[in-house]
Amino acid sequence: MSTSGNELAAPTSGKRLRVLLKISGQACCRTGETGLSIPQISLIGEQIKRVATQAQLAIVVGGGNILRGRDLSGYKEIVRPATSHYMGMLATVINALALQEVLESLGVAARVQSALRVDNVCEPYIRRRCMRHLEKGRVVILAGGTGSPFVTTDTAAALRGRELDADVLLKATKVDGVYAEDPVKNPHAARYSEISYDEMLAKNLQVMDAMAIQHCREQNLPVVVFDYTRPGNIERAVAGERIGTRIVAQTRLPGA
Ligand code: UDP
Repeated sequence: MSTSGNELAAPTSGKRLRVLLKISGQACCRTGETGLSIPQISLIGEQIKRVATQAQLAIVVGGGNILRGRDLSGYKEIVRPATSHYMGMLATVINALALQEVLESLGVAARVQSALRVDNVCEPYIRRRCMRHLEKGRVVILAGGTGSPFVTTDTAAALRGRELDADVLLKATKVDGVYAEDPVKNPHAARYSEISYDEMLAKNLQVMDAMAIQHCREQNLPVVVFDYTRPGNIERAVAGERIGTRIVAQTRLPGA
């Protein structure tokens, strides 16, 4: 990787950085609400538009604004857990279609690819076709998670990041990084500017699934956890500015 200020610069000069952006379902609704908010998705869409020409952008969207599999865990006798997780995956398809429409309305070429087959509304996820879209400058929105129940879209993001050879995984959240303790419970909790995969796993820090962290560690795929609600932060993260928390193999910052 380059060390020319932008630490996320693409390894080969002339080649655009390939970014895997994970957006949770929360980003698709108003704070404290559920369902879809097109104005909210448009705010994200505007930020994406500003980076769409700077990087190859694959986006994994969550579905928590509509349904997470565990939301129905109290009804296991009626709705089997696998079914609730498939419902959660379908929720991500709804968000992905909304984001695609928003991006296209802003003049950004976008394609949804889903790990669950919903052929009437989008392409199936096909790795090589996805890469081709990215090379042609289209934003690819990856829906349906991994296509398998019992995991989350964080794991899907890590897996797609690995197989698409992403240079970085940007995890957009409502908190501005990884904290030693829950910052809601302890407002004085310290925030890491950098932390290793091993420390994340050893301390069981909850910002991302352990399975997702393990995948990133195996590939040495750097992760940046940052607050997408701050305007311009997606651009800053893509530009490699030091925002949020970087999760890497070896920390280098003193007192990180
Ligand atoms: N899900 C799944 N397999 C996957 C990805 C997602 O079963 O590979 C289901 C799971 O129930 C999850 C829901 O889809 O809770 C929505 O995804 P997620 O919770 O990751 O959304 P987010 O929290 O990012 O909005």
